[in-house]
Amino acid sequence: MKALMLVCDGIADRPVRELKGKTPLEVARKQNMDALASRGITGILDPIAPGIRVGSDTTHLALLGYNPYEVYTGRGPFEAAGVGLKLRQGDIAFRCNFATVDENLVVLDRRAGRISKGTDKLARAINKIKIPGAEIIFKESVAHRGVLILRGKKLSHKVSDSDPHVAGEKVRKVKALDESPEARRTASILNAFSEDVHKVLREQNGNANMLLLRGCGAAPKLKSFREKYGISGACMATTGIIKGIARLAGMEVVEAKTSYDLRIKQGLKILKNYDFLLINIKEPDEASHDHDARRKVQLIEEIDRALKPLLQFSRENYVLLLSDHTTSLSYGDHTGDSVPVVLCGPEVRADDVKKFDERSTAKGGLCRIRGQDLMPLLLDLMNRSEKFGA
Ligand code: ZN
Ligand code: ZN
Repeated sequence: MKALMLVCDGIADRPVRELKGKTPLEVARKQNMDALASRGITGILDPIAPGIRVGSDTTHLALLGYNPYEVYTGRGPFEAAGVGLKLRQGDIAFRCNFATVDENLVVLDRRAGRISKGTDKLARAINKIKIPGAEIIFKESVAHRGVLILRGKKLSHKVSDSDPHVAGEKVRKVKALDESPEARRTASILNAFSEDVHKVLREQNGNANMLLLRGCGAAPKLKSFREKYGISGACMATTGIIKGIARLAGMEVVEAKTSYDLRIKQGLKILKNYDFLLINIKEPDEASHDHDARRKVQLIEEIDRALKPLLQFSRENYVLLLSDHTTSLSYGDHTGDSVPVVLCGPEVRADDVKKFDERSTAKGGLCRIRGQDLMPLLLDLMNRSEKFGA
């Protein structure tokens, strides 16, 4: 018996004025999602806890059964794993931007003219930098972005960003965020690195003459999926951060095909070799960040058309369909609202709910649960959970 967790990123929404007080899920024609709801048990889910606004990173950790408050100290390590860097315990990691600064280190462009080529060459130069007390490991990622790992003894993630987050301000000095000698030491290593990286990049004579650091986090200690649940897991995603989470959880990361149709078909094929697959579909979230209601409705319908094979699949296996958080079209960002969830499979106690949307599933048999409840529910239905007591 296999399980597929299909996360439609930010597909949940609040009632939208432009849609006459309905949500995109309530407006869209989506017969396959509704068929799953009709055959499954439904409910609403708080990604972490009621009213807590979450990022896709923290909520995916919760959905996979990890406690984000224990394992998440910042985005950096997950981004680093997402680009394929191997983290070790004790490492700290940052997300970085190549940027353009003037001679006074005032940021002129946080994206270095949206640099897209030649960052691999810059990365090679950066990796030659030697700072006493820590090893520098840098890797470029998409466009102007990159990741930095600092490796060494007695490092702390309790340090501030060097990124001022707006153009027109000076690159910040990294500061210790607590009183520990480790944080002070780490801050001084990073300030020395910032000076050196500016020198090294200036010699390259391009737009990119500085690296801005943000999102520092410590390499998390995650029990692997196999250790935690005794099952094998894979993940299909298009964003680095979700791939990074999956890698750190010891899951196999598979590249996603372009069309939704092919992704679902490919997913079902992958499940021949794994017990569990997480698929993240990112686009609905982006439509909400862009305040584009029509696009969001369109995307829901497009995704829905690809889900037909799941109706057959869920006769013998389990399918979880949900949103990882609400992304509000009016607010243009994630909100703390609950999200709809449906669990479909051979032995679920199906309820009377016939539609997959925020209000309909609130009447379902799962009632109101939290992100971290999903994996136990799923494992239990698969008869893979451990008994507590005699
Ligand atoms: Zn998300
Ligand atoms: Zn988002």
